[in-house]
Amino acid sequence: MARHKGRGWHVRLLAAALGVTAVAAATSVWTAQADTAGGRQPQARVSAPGAQGQVAKVAADIAHASDRGARGVNITIDDGPDPVWTPQVLQLLKDNGVKATFCMVGTQAQAHPDLVKEVVAAGHRLCNHTVSHDTTMDTRSEAYQSQQILDAERMITKASGGVRPQYYRAPGGAFTPYSRQLAASRGMRPLGWNVDTKDFERPGVDTMVATVKSEISDGPTILFHDAGGDRSQTLAALREVLPWLKQQGYSFGYPVR
Ligand SMILES: [Zn+2]
Repeated sequence: MARHKGRGWHVRLLAAALGVTAVAAATSVWTAQADTAGGRQPQARVSAPGAQGQVAKVAADIAHASDRGARGVNITIDDGPDPVWTPQVLQLLKDNGVKATFCMVGTQAQAHPDLVKEVVAAGHRLCNHTVSHDTTMDTRSEAYQSQQILDAERMITKASGGVRPQYYRAPGGAFTPYSRQLAASRGMRPLGWNVDTKDFERPGVDTMVATVKSEISDGPTILFHDAGGDRSQTLAALREVLPWLKQQGYSFGYPVR
């Protein structure tokens, strides 16, 4: 699983996130409790601002399977929402009758709550992709991982109008046992992928389509992006790939929880 690194726009996101973090850390019951307990025993019963009531715990191992079974495909769209690209992705998914899972960056969700609500209204699912997309999450302290996951959970849930993210995908796949357990305790199933289109590197539409065709037999969860730069290749690839998958007898579902 390659990690997408060297992404300047995330530096800007991080700067924006720091302001949020300072406020969230001061008010977070969760953070205080996690620190008291050494961050090792996240308790699902502790409610956080923006996430009312009890949350059902889910499995903590990384999901790859589709709820549609052996011929199911999970389209996952990461790093948004983005005001230029997300509406185009939504239209394309609608045109093809496809539901997808959007792994959102907390600061992006906070900046574009209208888009988060559009994603939810169209029947897609939300996934927590941390506050600031740090692909070195797996080398950082538990307190840092907790802040990145729980603050993003609050930001996405608030932006959506109360709809919670159902999955957690670590940036670059940088999961840890701690972060998986924490996410699972908050009802967010750790989410992996099987097919990396590498659309972030803009390898060309034909290459991306060929990757999907040759690797879909590896597993059902396909990785695309709707932010972080020019995503016109992503749109063009989806326009080819979605009808092809249907022709092959695949149906579109959500990752298992
Ligand atoms: Zn990402």
